[in-house]
Amino acid sequence: MSAINIDHLTVRYKKNRENLPVLSDVSLTVPTGTVCAVIGPSGCGKSTLLKVAAGLIKNYEGQVTVGGRPLDTRKMTIGFMPQSYGLLPWRTVAENIRLGRKVKGLWQQEDEKKLEELASRLGISGLLDRYPRELSGGQQQRVSLARVFLLQPDILLMDEPFSALDAITREEMQDVFRELWQQESITTILVTHYVEEALYLGGQIAVMGEDGQIAELLDNPTGETPLRRSDERFFQLGRQLRQKLKSKLPGRGGEGA
Ligand code: ADP
Ligand code: MG
Repeated sequence: MSAINIDHLTVRYKKNRENLPVLSDVSLTVPTGTVCAVIGPSGCGKSTLLKVAAGLIKNYEGQVTVGGRPLDTRKMTIGFMPQSYGLLPWRTVAENIRLGRKVKGLWQQEDEKKLEELASRLGISGLLDRYPRELSGGQQQRVSLARVFLLQPDILLMDEPFSALDAITREEMQDVFRELWQQESITTILVTHYVEEALYLGGQIAVMGEDGQIAELLDNPTGETPLRRSDERFFQLGRQLRQKLKSKLPGRGGEGA
């Protein structure tokens, strides 16, 4: 378990329009054992931020450290859940779950028992011999969660993990995630575009604006002892957060264009 520290991060893509930065001087500290939910409009740079933290984008200005050490995917284990689940279609469910640890050279015989326990908690025990194409979106999501939790990474990065699911399945998966997460409390950055998801899962909430900056960093008062979704205070906080998000979009009453 390690804190994530992002310091004055600027990212420019080559061939980008006018070579404007996609992320511009972003600083963010995610304390050890907390979830930071990152929320913001489409195209504001959320996935770019995660890809930098995952070590997939190496060309950037600024500094990223994990547990006080410069980001280095060879020296640390990073759990990355891409939006598309990241399952290999030609591997069975069980092989896909083992893959994270195998790729890192961490696989041991006793992990097989952990895999079975995780599969059972996620309700996918009966699917282990199937292929991803034989699963629903929600089931694929569970497999992807099993893989990343079996990996036991130093940090966990999730890119809109539940956005492709219907509302009920999404809430179910948020609960499953919270239950698994509470056992290990892995330092996590979770990108979402759902206000309720940010509130339900994030101990802190980073609101990004269209300019590729973090416009606001909020401590979520429900982070420690999460409120039920039906709680009046949950609605209130949701309204406030929605308002903040709207004020960051151009032409919606924000501070200038
Ligand atoms: P988000 O995840 O918030 O929707 P992204 O990080 O995916 O945003 O993208 C931010 C901006 O960078 C967008 O304008 C997108 O079109 C652009 N972009 C993303 N990836 C690339 C790339 N590989 N090359 C050039 N531009 C990119
Ligand atoms: Mg994205």
